[in-house]
Order: sequence, then C-alpha cells, then structure tokens
Amino acid sequence: MENMQKNIRPRAQKSPPASTGVRKNASRMPARQSVQETAAPEKPRRSYHPRRRKDTGAGAGTPAIPVRIMPLGGLGEVGKNITLYECQGEMILVDCGIVFPDSDMFGVDLVIPDFTYLVQNKENIRGIVITHGHEDHIGGLPYLLKEINLPVYATRLTIGLINNKLEEHGLVRSTKLVEITPRRKFRLGCFTIEPIHVNHSIPDAVALAISCPAGVILQTGDFKIDYTPITGGPTDLVTIAEYGERGVLALLSDSTNAERPGFTATEQKVGASIEALFSRAGKKRVIIATFASNLYRIQQLIDLAVKAGRKVAVSGRSMVNNTQMALELGYLHAPENVLIDIEEINRYPAEKIVLVTTGSQGEPLSALSRMASASHRNVRVGPNDFIIISANPIPGNEKMVTKVVNGLLKLGAEVIYESMYDVHVSGHACQEEQKLMLTLARPKYFFPVHGEYKQLKKHAQTAAAVGVPEENIYIGENGDCIIVSADGLTVGEPVPAGAIMVDGLGVGDVGNVVLRDRRHLSEDGLVIVAAALDARTGTILAGPELVSRGFVYVRENEKLMDETRDQVREVLGSMSTLDLRDSGSVRTRIRETTSAFLYRKTKRSPMILPIIMEV
Ligand SMILES: [Zn+2]
Ligand SMILES: [Zn+2]
Repeated sequence: MENMQKNIRPRAQKSPPASTGVRKNASRMPARQSVQETAAPEKPRRSYHPRRRKDTGAGAGTPAIPVRIMPLGGLGEVGKNITLYECQGEMILVDCGIVFPDSDMFGVDLVIPDFTYLVQNKENIRGIVITHGHEDHIGGLPYLLKEINLPVYATRLTIGLINNKLEEHGLVRSTKLVEITPRRKFRLGCFTIEPIHVNHSIPDAVALAISCPAGVILQTGDFKIDYTPITGGPTDLVTIAEYGERGVLALLSDSTNAERPGFTATEQKVGASIEALFSRAGKKRVIIATFASNLYRIQQLIDLAVKAGRKVAVSGRSMVNNTQMALELGYLHAPENVLIDIEEINRYPAEKIVLVTTGSQGEPLSALSRMASASHRNVRVGPNDFIIISANPIPGNEKMVTKVVNGLLKLGAEVIYESMYDVHVSGHACQEEQKLMLTLARPKYFFPVHGEYKQLKKHAQTAAAVGVPEENIYIGENGDCIIVSADGLTVGEPVPAGAIMVDGLGVGDVGNVVLRDRRHLSEDGLVIVAAALDARTGTILAGPELVSRGFVYVRENEKLMDETRDQVREVLGSMSTLDLRDSGSVRTRIRETTSAFLYRKTKRSPMILPIIMEV
C-alpha cells in the first residue's frame, strides 16, 4: 500500500484503458472508507441495493487481475443493449442495439447508445460480438461502424440480418463480418469466447462464455429454455453447467420477464392453438400478424398452411426481406409452390390463402395498419377475413394495437388478438428458467441486465433466492464501470453513456433544445409576426403580418389577430429610434408583448417567432 490514493482504487490504476476516469467528478462514489478498513482482505461489500460504496477488495500479496464490465446501454430500459469488457487494457464489445423513441421524443426515429467512450478507446477494442439479430442488439451497429471500424462476430442468421442493415448504410465493403458457431471458441485479444446455443424468439441466438485472465463471464443475451423448440434443439444447458462446474466469475442474465413466475411456454403451443384457429377460420382467408424476425413462428405458419391446403403470401417490407433471406440461408423451409407473391393472392379463393404480415404492434406504417385503414395496395379486408395477431403488444404499443383491431373489426373481419387464445409465447425466460440459469452457472457475482429497473430488481431477488449472496449482486446503471476479480467487486468511475437520437439522416443533432421546441410546437402551435422596418428611422414600412399554425383557426379569430397586430404596432411605436435599430431588442419586445397578450386572451402559449426585415 504505497499511498492513500492507490489504496482507494488499487486495481483501477493497473493498465487502464485510454481514458478511464475521463469524467473527473467522482461524486457518484463517496470515498468514505479508511485505510484500515480497506487494507484487510475483506468480503465483497456490494449489495444489490444500488448504493455506491467503494470497496477495494485488495488482499495482501498480489491483487487478482480484474475485468471491467461497462454496460453502455440496456440497463433501466428495454433496448439499446451494449456492454463493453476490458481486461489488461484490451477490450471487446457485446451487442450494439437501438431503442425506439418515447412518445415525447417528437419526430425521433430511433435512439442509439452514446459511442463517446468507444471512440476514445477504439485502439483497444478487438471486436464486437453479437448475441442475436434483434434490433435491440444489432440496430446500432451501422452507426457505430461509421465511427469505428471493428470486426463483427455473429452467427450465420445474425450475419444475414446485419448484412441487410449494412447494405442500407453502404458499409458492407468496409466491414469484416466473421461467422461464429456454438461450441467453437475464438479469441479476441486476451479474451476467449465460446458461443453457447440458447432458445429465443429468433433462431441462431447465443449466450457467450467470455474467458479472460480475470475469470469467466457468462452473458446470456436474450434467452429462454424451450425443451421442445421448433428447430435447433434446447438451450445448451450442458455447456452452461460445465462452465458453472469450472467456476463462473460473473453472470449477466436477461431480465425481461423477471416479473413473471413459472416457465415460458414452448413455441409448439402456439402451433397447436393456431392449428385450431385455422379450422375455425373455415372458408375465410387467414391473415396473421407477427414479428418478422420470429422465423419459428413463420415456419409453423407455413407448415400449418401446407396441412390446411393453403398458399402463403407475406406482406410488409421486413417480412418480405426476412423470409427471403431465411429461405436462402435454410432457416425456413417450404415445399415448392406454397409461397406465392402477394400480387397473386386475389387469384385464389379466400380459403386457400394464409397471409403473413407485419404490424402486430400496430405500427402506423405497417402492412396490417394499412389493411385496417383500407389503404393496402393488394389487400382489401372484409367479412371474409379471419385475422390473428400472433404477438402481445409491447408495453406502450397497446393503443396503436387497439386502433388497428378496431379498424379491422369495422371492416367486418373476425379478429383474434391478445390473450383470447395462446397465439403467442414470449422469447424470454421467466423466473423458473432464470433460476435454472443461475443454478447451473453458479456465478460468484450476478448482474441482472436487459430490463427496466423493476425487472432488474426482481431478477436480483430471484438470484438471492437461489443462493447468490446479496452482497455479490449488483444492479447496475448505464455507464457503470463494474470491476470484478477473484478478490471482489467494486464500482469504478462511470464512463460516458447515454442516448443519442437519430432523426432522418441526422445523428445526435436533435438534442434537448430541439426536442423542447418540438414539444412546445406540438402543444401550443406557432405564431409568426413579420414586419419590415426602415433601417434608419425604424418606421414600419410593411406589416405587422401574422401567420399562425396549430394555434387558432385564423378565419374564425380575425378579431384576435387584429388586436394582436395592434399590440405589435403599439409596442413598436413606443420604442425609441435607437432601440428600433437593434433588431434583437425589437424581436424580444415583440415576442414578450405578443406572448403576454395571447396568453391573456386565450390561456395558450404558442411559440412566437418575430421576423423583422430592415429595409
Ligand atoms: Zn431478442
Ligand atoms: Zn433483447
């Protein structure tokens, strides 16, 4: 123990990445332990209550090699999963997802992680490993690859999905994609990674056993345990148990369904329900909405259609692209002449058609939404349609789904949705599966990931219930630097992590100020006050003119507009020539006067935009 400074964070000093501690404020970590306290080889003292206490864990003799786990997204939120690992100065990244914007992020298309820390450390990052092809795990890749050129490691189907994305962004040629296979280890710097097959709602999902000089970290990715999956076999519990037997330093596990007791039902259950519904549909046309990435579901629909003597057509851009690619890569199988083009569906009688479509979340531009609003190019929905929504609404989407269901019902169709039948099972582990994962992996430390705080907390409780000591469980936040080694667990200084909004071609140019303006415009509208002034004397040469949008209907409010104009004229008249030459103060006075006047008259506060031309 050379000095106090080193004693506080002994391992944070060792081979730090380029900018560890880039944030100088350490206010998140009150340093209140004394030298005496930290000198002893004490027990890890983290608890899963997210208090930030410091603990060096340094024992006598050589400290154990630490690994730093930095979740840059996916904690306290559903989506935007991305985790950085650093050991002995080398780094790897796992996943790079997006999250869809909240309803108060007006006009924002999607939200990606903040890549600042990755750009600062790009020399040290050996590659990025992807667990599976869902948007919350791969959606941010093109944006990351535009900033840092990293090799991407993923399974075959995931590579196919990534490739589609890279094509859209013109990144195919510059990106090195490396196919990985379960049970085949590969090296990235000092990390050896073994992909482990897991069940999920998309094929080719893997957990990752990440071995580094500090120990083994198991990151589950999204998973569930389906003993009778459609294809691919159950989650590779044997390999997970083997790692558990040899010793897992830390487990990062999927918390999405942490609040649900029991087991997630097998995907086959959906097939049985849908088969029954097919016969109930009788002579009607069957239209089924589901996730375009759920190829197991799509495979079951194809198989059931074949059994029922129906043809299958697909609708929606992502559904068309995904099925096309999955057929080419062998993840979907269909006998010849079963799949038909959507243009051909009207050549067949209704009872010979199954139409698989996007839009299960009521997304306004999706194929199903267009059918519900009678604006789909090829599909006219009517009483002869039997429609199944084979998905549950993701929280936040309920209203949109309801709107679509209402629309379809009004058109006379029969609609099966939500919990009317078992037409959907989740892709994520419930509590009993999470317990099995914990029990087999037997981690020393446990970090719940992928979920809102309430889910992370539940998962932490589940882990405690199966015997992980509470002080070895830590609920992290985005930007945490969790340092683990054989000696213990500490939380270092946070690294930059956050949300970057993408709107059209702009990445990060929509910030809080722009959003505030958009919110203001959406709530109270806009009034433009335009006038031309003589640059020398300040007399009004033209105007003031008023233009309003989203405020009041002008034609019915002529009087209000006239009065407002008078107010503006008055304020201009009251200003000195000197003030009138300063267009800044003219604009301010006009804004203040107009705003106060309109508020008095209407109790609304539209955005006031004065435009002054000096002639
Ligand atoms: Zn997923
Ligand atoms: Zn996910």
